[in-house]
Amino acid sequence: MEVKCRVCGRRVEIAVWTAEYERLKSSDDPAYICDMCQQRIQAEAQDERSR
Ligand SMILES: [Zn+2]
Repeated sequence: MEVKCRVCGRRVEIAVWTAEYERLKSSDDPAYICDMCQQRIQAEAQDERSR
C-alpha cells in the first residue's frame, strides 16, 4: 500500500505485514507521517521542552 506523508508529502510504500499498515487500515482518517518527519517532530518537541 502506498501512503503519502502528511508533513512532507513524500510517497512511502507500506508493507501489508507491518504494524503501521494495520494501524492505517483500521483508521478512518489515516494520517501517515514518515520516519524522517517523525524524528524531526520529536526533535522539535524536545527542543520546546528544553527551552
Ligand atoms: Zn515526511
